[in-house]
Amino acid sequence: MEYAWIGIGSNLLNPKKQVDQAIQALSQLPKTEFISCSKYYRSRPLGYHKQPDFLNTIVILYTDLRPELLLDYMQEIENQQGRVRKFATCCNSYPRTLDLDILLFGQYRICTPKLVIPHYDMMNREFIMYPLAELDQKLVLPNGKCIADIIRGFPKKGLTIWDN
Ligand code: AMP
Repeated sequence: MEYAWIGIGSNLLNPKKQVDQAIQALSQLPKTEFISCSKYYRSRPLGYHKQPDFLNTIVILYTDLRPELLLDYMQEIENQQGRVRKFATCCNSYPRTLDLDILLFGQYRICTPKLVIPHYDMMNREFIMYPLAELDQKLVLPNGKCIADIIRGFPKKGLTIWDN
């Protein structure tokens, strides 16, 4: 069993409803226990700004699924919630009903065409770093850095709590 940290984002079709529904689906995955969820945050879109703000949160699961299988299940949930897969670059985002990413999987390091863990860009994203710190101030990432040190002075870029 390992702790899997899942990043969730949505900026279309009632993001709060999308995220609530995704958390419900994640907590019902086989061989998996729901542990906790951060607050809901509002973040500004990366890159392409003419789109709504994102709702972001992070869920911790305790799972016996392999990471690749967990990703398959997560993609099924995205597809069920109307996700249209499009190309995006590391510095651009596009509107989406639901985006689910495996941020961390225990202390695993994976780099395959299908799966990169820790998530390739998490260290640059305020909407990942702040909720991680909220969930566990003592978290140490696979690169040996402590989350409490990382977020000291980390730019918030307009990150706030989602208020509706
Ligand atoms: P995106 O459109 O940003 O959600 O990217 C989806 C693609 O990223 C999928 O084809 C996944 O196979 C791949 N991917 C690589 N690493 C991860 C990860 N840690 N979590 C989720 N998807 C990942």
